Amino acid sequence: MRVALTIAGSDSSGGAGIQADLKTFQALGVFGMSAVTAVTVQNTRKVYDIQEMRPRIIHDQITCLFDDIPIHAVKIGMVASIPLIEAIAGALGTIDRLPPVILDPVMVSKSGYALLQPDAQAALVRHLFPLARVVTPNLPEAETLLGRKIADLEDMKAAAREISALGAKMVVVKGGHLKQGSATDVLFDGEVFRMLESRRIDTENTHGTGCTFSSAIAAHMARGETFFDAVGHAKDYITGAIENALSLGRGCGPTHHFF
Ligand code: PLP
Repeated sequence: MRVALTIAGSDSSGGAGIQADLKTFQALGVFGMSAVTAVTVQNTRKVYDIQEMRPRIIHDQITCLFDDIPIHAVKIGMVASIPLIEAIAGALGTIDRLPPVILDPVMVSKSGYALLQPDAQAALVRHLFPLARVVTPNLPEAETLLGRKIADLEDMKAAAREISALGAKMVVVKGGHLKQGSATDVLFDGEVFRMLESRRIDTENTHGTGCTFSSAIAAHMARGETFFDAVGHAKDYITGAIENALSLGRGCGPTHHFF
């Protein structure tokens, strides 16, 4: 059995965070485990509050799993604050032969709530990018990381190269937020670029898309796939999950993980 670990926040509404990650792992045939960083109070309309876990508890969730079970990929999502980032980096830094780490640099929810404290952005780059094999920023996250606007595919390629230079070797800059055209993602493995195009799906129900996409990459990498293959298969999966998204609740409904 291939095993993936998600280090992320809980979404009480079940569409994003740890819940989305575990459903994605299950849907893609990988055994899922979780180290919870924070618990959000959340429904399909918005995030209301956040309770962070104690850093020691996060650290120990990670180390006790690695002590016991072979883990084939790690996904990192919401990391909330500097002490939690340091705890995660401290735990992963002790692991011999760390499996691929897929880091989704989660910053702000679609409803506008800060899931990463603004003063923690530098710590995310400094402590977690060097441990990551892949980072998956969307356009607003890439803009925040680089401090400038990204307007088109050429800008996305330049951004991928610069984010790779920040420490993570491989980068997926997700184009879903580009105003015009299709939802093209730019992939960069440190040497070669590839574009992954998909048609734009017209739906309000996109809660948890970023979490689902990065955990699908982790699941495929846990199964031994290369970066380009894993991202291509993850893109197929997230496209299907959005096409079949569920209109639950009165806000942004979740993607459907089993379709
Ligand atoms: N809640 C948690 C715990 C998350 O990790 C995330 C995204 O990573 C979200 C909420 C935000 O989901 P969305 O912006 O897709 O609504």
